[in-house]
Amino acid sequence: MLVHSAGFDYFTPEAGKHSTMLCVACTAEMDVKRNVARTMGRYGIAMPEHLVRQEDIFTCPNSEHGWHRQIIRLLQEVRDTPSRKLADLMELEIAEIRQTKTTTKEPLW
Ligand SMILES: [Zn+2]
Repeated sequence: MLVHSAGFDYFTPEAGKHSTMLCVACTAEMDVKRNVARTMGRYGIAMPEHLVRQEDIFTCPNSEHGWHRQIIRLLQEVRDTPSRKLADLMELEIAEIRQTKTTTKEPLW
């Protein structure tokens, strides 16, 4: 199962706005599917025709890897923790995982 996280390895900007995008998790250049019509709104409700917009869908080619999901989880923890010291430690671990492309903790993410 392939899971993307919006704001990390999944972006849907207005069509043509970005020529390339880099993954927030692993910094890889993202894959893109261009000019996709967004026809569904929230809760899967069809959009009125005048609100349908064209967007580009950027996804990371590394998203299916456990190490990639671990980085995203750590980035979320860095964002959410009130502790500067814990955030610094997690940043170190994120750098290590980006370099080795290997999870540092099981189970898989
Ligand atoms: Zn990535």
